Amino acid sequence: MLSSITHNIHRIQDTIQRAAQQSGRDPAEICLVAATKTVTCEQLEEAYAAQIRNFGENRLQEAQEKMAQFGPREGLTWHFIGRIQRRKLKAIVGRFCLVHSVESLEQAHELNRLAEQSSIHQDVLLQVNVGEEAQKGGFSVTGLQQALEELDQLDHLRIRGLMALPPWAEDPEASRPYFARLRALRDECARRPMQRIVLKDLSMGMSHDYHIAIQEGATLVRIGSAMFGARS
Ligand SMILES: *Cc1c(COP(=O)(O)O)cnc(C)c1O
Repeated sequence: MLSSITHNIHRIQDTIQRAAQQSGRDPAEICLVAATKTVTCEQLEEAYAAQIRNFGENRLQEAQEKMAQFGPREGLTWHFIGRIQRRKLKAIVGRFCLVHSVESLEQAHELNRLAEQSSIHQDVLLQVNVGEEAQKGGFSVTGLQQALEELDQLDHLRIRGLMALPPWAEDPEASRPYFARLRALRDECARRPMQRIVLKDLSMGMSHDYHIAIQEGATLVRIGSAMFGARS
């Protein structure tokens, strides 16, 4: 008998496939990132056995503990998807394949400096506060437009796209205008002449609204509770 996590993963993959097909997209362009905050290593083990290869963590310490305990595995990559505290930047650089949540020009400069120090290039996304919520981090839409030229000078970052967490609403359709706004912003920014930045990725959509996000162009979806069950 399949475990519930394996079963959930199959259901999520079916939903991703259907949402992609409905909007004429290739399901292969959508990366499923398991949002693993509070998830145990036994649960990670089950997800890995069911072919999940991208884990996304919110807190550095929890991520470091799991990386050490779970160990390196074939094809496994870790993403950082949470809010970044200034003093944690140093430990983040080079340890995550993609940082989804760069929220300011200052943070981007600091990550770039640390990446240069380690002689690496760090892949990142720029988080946009699409709902203009006071409690959430991220660039404002105009803030991002104004920062782009300066961000394009940061030669140790690979800025691959945008990320957003729309305001919470029970109805997944309520997220659609925010996803559409992020996509429109990505398209508008991508038309500008830039040296380095290639804005291709859109990290948007969680357990309750990822099907909508995919219809609106998501290339990375971050899914926790639909895979592992409700967090206590
Ligand atoms: C927890 C979390 C998710 C996943 O949330 P679910 O609703 O459990 O799918 C996605 N993105 C971020 C940034 C998160 O913190």
